[in-house]
Amino acid sequence: MLVSERIKAVKPSPTLAINAKAVSMRESGVDVISFGVGEPDFDTPKHICQEAVRAMEGGFTRYTAVGGMPEIKDAIIKKLRRDNNLSYEREEVMVSCGGKHVLYNLAQATLNPGDEVIIPAPYWVSYPPIVVLAGASPVIAETRQSQDFKLSPDALEACITPRTKLLILNSPSNPTGSVYTRSELEALAEVVERHDISVVSDEIYEKLIFGCKPFHSIAQVSEGLKSKTFVVNGLSKTYAMTGWRIGYVGGAREVIAGMTKIQSQSTSNPNSIAQRAGIAALNGPQDSVLEMVQAFEQRCKYLVKRLNAIPGVDCNMPGGAFYAFADFNHYFKADRQDGKIVEGSSNLCEYLLTEARVALVPGSAFGAEDFIRFSCATNLETIEEGLNRIEVALGKLV
Ligand SMILES: *Cc1c(COP(=O)(O)O)cnc(C)c1O
Repeated sequence: MLVSERIKAVKPSPTLAINAKAVSMRESGVDVISFGVGEPDFDTPKHICQEAVRAMEGGFTRYTAVGGMPEIKDAIIKKLRRDNNLSYEREEVMVSCGGKHVLYNLAQATLNPGDEVIIPAPYWVSYPPIVVLAGASPVIAETRQSQDFKLSPDALEACITPRTKLLILNSPSNPTGSVYTRSELEALAEVVERHDISVVSDEIYEKLIFGCKPFHSIAQVSEGLKSKTFVVNGLSKTYAMTGWRIGYVGGAREVIAGMTKIQSQSTSNPNSIAQRAGIAALNGPQDSVLEMVQAFEQRCKYLVKRLNAIPGVDCNMPGGAFYAFADFNHYFKADRQDGKIVEGSSNLCEYLLTEARVALVPGSAFGAEDFIRFSCATNLETIEEGLNRIEVALGKLV
């Protein structure tokens, strides 16, 4: 076999797989409603697209500096200072082909075989494979719905061993929508400071927080924490720019240099036109972000209200992002009346896809078997219709 052992150890992204199945059902004429989408349903703001057109027409179509052109690095530095009160120099930031690529480069640049990376569950689907592909081991730290799925200092402490190298935090979280408060981050920071570990802070949903609440990064807790933290962010979610592929990181210069080296030998620079668009996004008007977050909040509120009205379903109101993460374990072991029994979240999602024509992502993909993730990156009418269908299909279970 040509396929490497390393690749055999990794599964393809389950969220993309569900979406692919929904798309193929749709292509064969079935009207599927998808709650599976992991991207904003809004268009990239016009002024950003216009800058891309200017870049292309002006011949800005060649290689740039590997880690991003100086102008986008400066826009990122300005953003991190303006929004997060964090100061970086050009050698401490870099741009990659999306936040996911940043995380991949970061794992490659920091991890050795045998190293352990603490990942709180429920987690974003790509964290464990990214760690495994770097030859290291994910250590999953369980959290509870009653504690809003947040990692406690004790649970963190319990996972730390002499081999622990990184902790991955994601606030606001995909899939739970949980947002850490400053004091919660300070409590985690105290544990981090006592041990020789670094933090990867995935802040991709920074701007999508409900109720105009402030965002806090663990890097802001102290100067000591800042030097131990890699602040990971990107344009995909904030500016509805998932297809453009621009992500960035701020952190220790030796690691940034390592990541740049990997990028120089793999993808080279991120797309030159997208970088120019990215500068316009970071430096330009931000009102589109507010409109988007207000729509997500309204939809999430409706979605969570409807979910909690279903017998046996329990869902927290997310503090941000655009997902609701609901406990459906009440329906496990139910009789589908088609000769099968609901075995768990994957099986329930499969039932709901065939019976209700609704695409959902099972909690098993996020390390939380009892749950199902709902994306509200779709309009209110569609959300309403999807929930009507789910209620009917669940009503048939005995
Ligand atoms: C979407 C997402 C990312 C990165 O997305 P990119 O499009 O690669 O920038 C990173 N982390 C989480 C938790 C996400 O949901």
